[in-house]
Amino acid sequence: MQWPCASLKDADLGARTTLRVGGSVEWLLEPANPDELRAAIVRAKDEGFTPRVLGGGANLVIDDRGLPGVVIATDRMNFVFRPMAPPPGADEGGGGLLDEVVPSARVAPPDPADDPRLAVWAGVPLPKLCRAARDLGYSGLEKMAGVPGQVGGGIAMNAGGKDPDGTLWQMSDVVEQIRVVNELGEFEDIDAEAWAPGYRDGRLGDAVVAGAVLRFEPRPKAEVAGDSRDYLRRKNAVQPVTEWSAGCVFKNPDPEVSGGRTAGLLVDEAGGKGRRIGGAIISERHGNFLVNTGEASAEDVFTLIEETRARVAEHSGVELELEVKLWRRH
Ligand SMILES: Cc1cc2nc3c(=O)[nH]c(=O)nc-3n(C[C@H](O)[C@H](O)[C@H](O)COP(=O)(O)OP(=O)(O)OC[C@H]3O[C@@H](n4cnc5c(N)ncnc54)[C@H](O)[C@@H]3O)c2cc1C
Repeated sequence: MQWPCASLKDADLGARTTLRVGGSVEWLLEPANPDELRAAIVRAKDEGFTPRVLGGGANLVIDDRGLPGVVIATDRMNFVFRPMAPPPGADEGGGGLLDEVVPSARVAPPDPADDPRLAVWAGVPLPKLCRAARDLGYSGLEKMAGVPGQVGGGIAMNAGGKDPDGTLWQMSDVVEQIRVVNELGEFEDIDAEAWAPGYRDGRLGDAVVAGAVLRFEPRPKAEVAGDSRDYLRRKNAVQPVTEWSAGCVFKNPDPEVSGGRTAGLLVDEAGGKGRRIGGAIISERHGNFLVNTGEASAEDVFTLIEETRARVAEHSGVELELEVKLWRRH
């Protein structure tokens, strides 16, 4: 089959996830830019497939019996752009920042503080984005330090967290505009004011994130770096960050329903920590993290998730909702 971008037949997906579980997919497409992404989506649909989109695979469990159809991976769309001053005499009208991202040797970028924005394509790793912001003295993503995955997945999931004092922080805090490929296969720009994301849910439906414009607050670089380090240290102290996991398995329930208890605490109280099925184990460090000890099959993972959910429901009456996405073969 001819695809409008790089493609791999029967490509292994497990190695592309942070849990290291998953079989192969019939077709893996690897667009290098938003135009190729759009073309890949349109072609896949024309061929009768419903393509899935894979970012950093940091919140995914993939069936290891293999998936039919098409997965589109955004890894190659790994570009961060600064706004460039238009060349002298150029028409300043026209498209938005995402249309101006081809760097020109003729123009110097403005002082970072004059326009503290970044245009990013979907495949930019979140840690790379955080480093870029830090090095420019841009504040807004300090708390995202240590969150794996890519910009597209981060927006689709509205990645984020909550401080011990209850302060919420999430990807949407820095989004000015998102460019998606919509259900009609067309580019569409969604301004932050028109975007209504929820908790760990970008609520973008079937739209695929191609890129975004992010807006920050200028701040001394040393302060951004210091806060990022502090957050990373805190995260490393409570999460099994060096092990193979898919991040939080469950969403934190409504505090009114759970009496303010997080999903991790509910699992812990239900005796879930340390429970093991095959090579999958609920982390002793954090009850909401399921870890692959090296040999876990997807079935081990699916079964342990269900067992943990049932255990919590029986113990506390709280029905936990999945945060992690499951790509199961039916
Ligand atoms: C150690 C560890 C710590 C973590 N800590 C946090 C944390 O603090 N906070 C947090 O929120 N998450 C956390 N996570 C989970 C994960 O980092 C985030 O959910 C991240 O946003 C996932 O991005 P991704 O690119 O890996 O998405 P993937 O896992 O590849 O995909 C997740 C979902 O997003 C969809 N998707 C991916 N790319 C696109 C796109 N371009 N357009 C539309 N849909 C897309 C996929 O189809 C899938 O449904 C953690 C994970 C790990 C392993």
